[in-house]
Amino acid sequence: MTSPAPTFSVVVPVYNEVESLPELHRRVRAVMEDLGEPWELVLVDDGSRDGSTDLIRELQAQDPEHVRPVIFARNFGHQIAVTAGLDYARGQAVVVMDADLQDPPEVIPDLVEKWRAGYQVVYAVRQAREGETWFKRATAALFYRLIRRITNVEIPLDTGDFRLMDRRVVEVLRRMRERHRFLRGMVAWVGFRQIGVPYKRAPRFAGETKYPLRKMLKFALDAITGFSYFPLQLATYMGFLSAGLAIIAIPIVAVARMTGVQAFYGQASTLIAVLFLGGVQLISLGILGEYVGRIYDEIKGRPLYVVAEAPEPPPDDAA
Ligand code: UDP
Ligand code: MG
Repeated sequence: MTSPAPTFSVVVPVYNEVESLPELHRRVRAVMEDLGEPWELVLVDDGSRDGSTDLIRELQAQDPEHVRPVIFARNFGHQIAVTAGLDYARGQAVVVMDADLQDPPEVIPDLVEKWRAGYQVVYAVRQAREGETWFKRATAALFYRLIRRITNVEIPLDTGDFRLMDRRVVEVLRRMRERHRFLRGMVAWVGFRQIGVPYKRAPRFAGETKYPLRKMLKFALDAITGFSYFPLQLATYMGFLSAGLAIIAIPIVAVARMTGVQAFYGQASTLIAVLFLGGVQLISLGILGEYVGRIYDEIKGRPLYVVAEAPEPPPDDAA
């Protein structure tokens, strides 16, 4: 393709979204045509198995000027799909949004307006969430607050990956090749002028969530380990706490024994202490394991994703 770089790229990760895609394309197209500048829609197929892949090719055939498919060799996960989208996007401003239309394309002009006003990152803040279970909302709210507590990057509350980023920010992100990715944290880390725009998160257009609890937990772990040492420090705190308790307890028990008090005899107290400390140690080991495993993943230096089909290699070195 030799078309000149567009002003806007819309990056959408797609995993089994066959029912939403035509509507997504239609609505993005309507909004982008209104903006009146060259644009592209980068659809990253994250190893879909429901026919989304063929549909993406079909959309490209219908609208070759705008649709750019990047097709993965298998499912690599949402954050990696977005990463690939950022690699392939050529726009001066890049918008990332979900395929299920929970992020309404109609919000894009609001994001663009702030970009034109001089902001490099414009993130969409969920004002209301419709059609999501209380469990999802509660865990999400808890998660964002926890992350904010224990990390030292200012990650905006109630913000997903729906956002607009200036080319300069995208170029920095493209140099951050960590594999357990928490993109919203990484974007916050980059800095520049960032601002939020409120929007109403719609219910899913079709199908069901591709983020079951298991993936949500992994995502949360990636976010925490990626931006905080706090879990590692927990072991230190627990160590000081139990050492402190022991120092206080030793003279008390010694004096008690010498004065003939019957307390602290028997196995139960010993057993409880052993089990408690054993538990703490195993948990600490597990936490250590989470970090070590991530170091191991990094050190292998594999590419972040494998592309089966893509328009042309991304500009310069990525992947
Ligand atoms: N997604 C993906 N790969 C995955 C899981 C999800 O590309 O392994 C995409 C999915 O198609 C959607 C976006 O990520 O465009 C968000 O997923 P979903 O809507 O299921 O998450 P939720 O909104 O329920 O948190
Ligand atoms: Mg969704």
